[in-house]
Amino acid sequence: ATPMSITAGVGRAAEFGVLVRDADALQKASTLSTLVFDKTGTLTEGQPKVTDIHTFGGISESEALRFAAALEQGSHHPLAQAIVEKAQGQTLPEVQNFRTLGGLGLRGDVDGTTLLLGNQALIQENGVDAQAADGLLNEMTEQGATPVLLAVDGQIAALFGLRDPLREDSIGALQRLHQLGYRLVMLTGDNPRTAQAIATQAGIDTVIAGVRPDGKADAIKALQAKGQQVAMIGDGINDAPALAQADVGIAMGGGSDVAIETAAITLMRPSLHGVADALAMSQATLRNMK
Ligand code: ADP
Ligand code: MG
Repeated sequence: ATPMSITAGVGRAAEFGVLVRDADALQKASTLSTLVFDKTGTLTEGQPKVTDIHTFGGISESEALRFAAALEQGSHHPLAQAIVEKAQGQTLPEVQNFRTLGGLGLRGDVDGTTLLLGNQALIQENGVDAQAADGLLNEMTEQGATPVLLAVDGQIAALFGLRDPLREDSIGALQRLHQLGYRLVMLTGDNPRTAQAIATQAGIDTVIAGVRPDGKADAIKALQAKGQQVAMIGDGINDAPALAQADVGIAMGGGSDVAIETAAITLMRPSLHGVADALAMSQATLRNMK
């Protein structure tokens, strides 16, 4: 077990676009049992598009979209960008009393009406009856679309469906990781049915969905409490506490600076093949040392 060979391993990783912080990170990477992936921007491309708009109670599609986009102008979430883009060219009303509700959605007032925009939990917590949207919502989530609900003055007004395809090489990279012997987990704030649909496509073993931003680190802790050695692979600001909690944090290149600062390993290219390359190499390096 020479420190020399580990140092060489760190150097070799850099050659294929994987930055390993130090020898300790590579050593820890060789003992992992479980890999936890963020969904949006890690397994998927991270650029969702609005593909469905359904309205309820007589509001027009364009009015619903204007309301939604007016709120989303104040958000940096990937879903927000998609909704604003869909409303491009339209004049958006001004929003008062804007608030971000972390892991749920947004609220704000337009011309004296109160708007709520976000997931089912947000709508339920505010006592809005969204039964009219249930059938369509179940249909879209089963296809892997993320539902975003709009309520206007406490009445359900619209359901948007947003789709964010898997990165084209995610399936192949996860196959390699299975062959290397890891258990694969998805961790996301998204709808559980949407998450399961995408996990099935990707070949993920276990889904932990509907998790609030501050619950992601706790989810990692729970896996560790069961004796698993856990890596977290993520890109987002929301993932930083989970990256820090994991035995090994792996940041996707092109993600947030916070993720890169927190992570032991950084992928320079936005491909999960980098994870497979790094872990195969850590296994080989440490095997050679025994
Ligand atoms: P993740 O990055 O894992 O999807 P987040 O905590 O960022 O998790 O978001 C969880 C869920 O909260 C989203 O899937 C969405 O349903 C809802 N949400 C969060 N922000 C917004 C937003 N700006 N607009 C609409 N929905 C949102
Ligand atoms: Mg994310």
